[in-house]
Amino acid sequence: MQFQKAELVISAASKVQWPQTELPEIVLAGRSNVGKSSLINALTGRKKLAYVGNTPGKTRLLNFFNLDDQYMFVDVPGYGYANISKQQLIRFGEMMEDYFNERMQKRGLLLIVDARHKPTEDDLTMIDFVRYYDLPVVVAATKYDKVKPSQRQHNLKVIKETLCLRDEEKLIPFSAETKLGVDEVWDALLEMLH
Ligand code: GDP
Repeated sequence: MQFQKAELVISAASKVQWPQTELPEIVLAGRSNVGKSSLINALTGRKKLAYVGNTPGKTRLLNFFNLDDQYMFVDVPGYGYANISKQQLIRFGEMMEDYFNERMQKRGLLLIVDARHKPTEDDLTMIDFVRYYDLPVVVAATKYDKVKPSQRQHNLKVIKETLCLRDEEKLIPFSAETKLGVDEVWDALLEMLH
């Protein structure tokens, strides 16, 4: 989809900074370096939108992106850092709990995983967390262009099984490089948003 306006509204450190809108929101999460920024840029047709809030030291902020005053993407900092402290982990958990407990306009999760690898414990924790709130989930398996064609079906199966995906939880092969899956992900997001 092409948007007239796609902009970072705020990188919010706490709930008092959340934008005061009622636009429906999709949460985007994945481990760090999975390709989340590239996916956000591919979905919004921008080159650099999502790198704005993606600098070191901003790892505990929720980035709110306004898309044409119609929807909001809420970019969760990449998780799974090797050296994250216990303190940071607790803070991350609190931030997510605040959001899911209190944000009325949340509509669902887009979980981004690497098509080459088995999802991590952190991915499973995130998806279970969102299921607890009864929200729909869509999974994008990105960097699909990097998987050998002969491996693709196998990798999708492993992802599906590891995350215990339910029939209604779509798994969509994606590539920011070739733009594979952009339309399919949008179809799934629009279903959650409307
Ligand atoms: P983030 O940390 O999750 O936001 O990850 P980035 O979007 O910054 O991507 C991490 C690295 O993976 C970068 O070098 C990207 O160019 C590369 N990358 C991201 N998506 C794809 C993809 O679909 N295909 C390929 N081949 N590389 C990708």
